[in-house]
Amino acid sequence: MVEYTPKERFVRVLTGKTVDRMPAVSVTQTATVEQMEACGAFWPEANENAEKMIALAEAGHTEVGFESVRVPFDITAEAEFFGCKIKAGTKVQQPSVVGHVVSTVEDIEKLKGYDINKGRIGVICDAIKILTNKYGDDLPIIGSMIGPFSLAQHLNGDNWFMAILTDEAFGLALMKFTTNFNIAYAKKMIGNGADIMVIIDPTASYQLIGPEYYEKFVVPFHKEIVDEIHEFNVPTVLHICGNTTAGLSLMESCGVDGISVDQTVDIATAASKLEKAALIGNLDPVNMLWKQTPEVIKEESKKVLDSGVDVLAPGCGIVSKTPTVNLQAMVEMAKNHKY
Ligand SMILES: [Zn+2]
Repeated sequence: MVEYTPKERFVRVLTGKTVDRMPAVSVTQTATVEQMEACGAFWPEANENAEKMIALAEAGHTEVGFESVRVPFDITAEAEFFGCKIKAGTKVQQPSVVGHVVSTVEDIEKLKGYDINKGRIGVICDAIKILTNKYGDDLPIIGSMIGPFSLAQHLNGDNWFMAILTDEAFGLALMKFTTNFNIAYAKKMIGNGADIMVIIDPTASYQLIGPEYYEKFVVPFHKEIVDEIHEFNVPTVLHICGNTTAGLSLMESCGVDGISVDQTVDIATAASKLEKAALIGNLDPVNMLWKQTPEVIKEESKKVLDSGVDVLAPGCGIVSKTPTVNLQAMVEMAKNHKY
């Protein structure tokens, strides 16, 4: 049996090719306090400083055993880039977006002409470059960014859901703007060495907005981003929070190579709905990975594996207080799984 490098293995799984065994990766945020203590790079500094970001990202590999390295650890750098007010994170909590900058089409115009190299997104791209130089021959470097729908919500605020219902022209203009940004940002990450792109679009939820609006305000924009990324032969994973079961076919229709689902999704049902995309998930980050023991996590992992998941992984971002031994239990189960 051929043995693959972790990078070859994960790329092959995402592109529907045979492999020797399951990759042990996380497509969602990997940092924890135990890893911070082990490597000496802590939130919130590790969200801002390339050197610390690199140290904490590689701790996911050296401490936990993930066969990948992934940055960043939060989803606010993009909104921050456009001037949204950010509530600073702490050692245990990610930063959050608390102020918004777009309420009209004119506001969108004012944001155009940005320099993609600036700000914290520039730091994240620098980190990708250094991680690629260090690990790029062996490990997949995962570049993650917020998706266009959730970024639009960050820019517009809580009005966003009402805006798409009542002002289609504005809603579509903002989606076009965020999508163009996502494409530019993804290209920069890929140029710096990202092997896999992950689009985290937590609120682009079929469950929240229904099929008609999902088809109009999400699918074409995801498709545009994925098509552009595919120009570089880079596989792309989409993560949306919540029970996405009913929307899986529409999610897949944008052409993504992997779909990451959370713990509210039944894996067997999800597996039956996807045609091509690899199904990734879905251990509960709170009630399982944080709160349970390695033994219970192994039992639950076995259930998820038996239900037909393609990549065993956390169902959403790992909680900062999660014990390393718990993550190692999941990693071990993935590594021991043959398809
Ligand atoms: Zn999620």
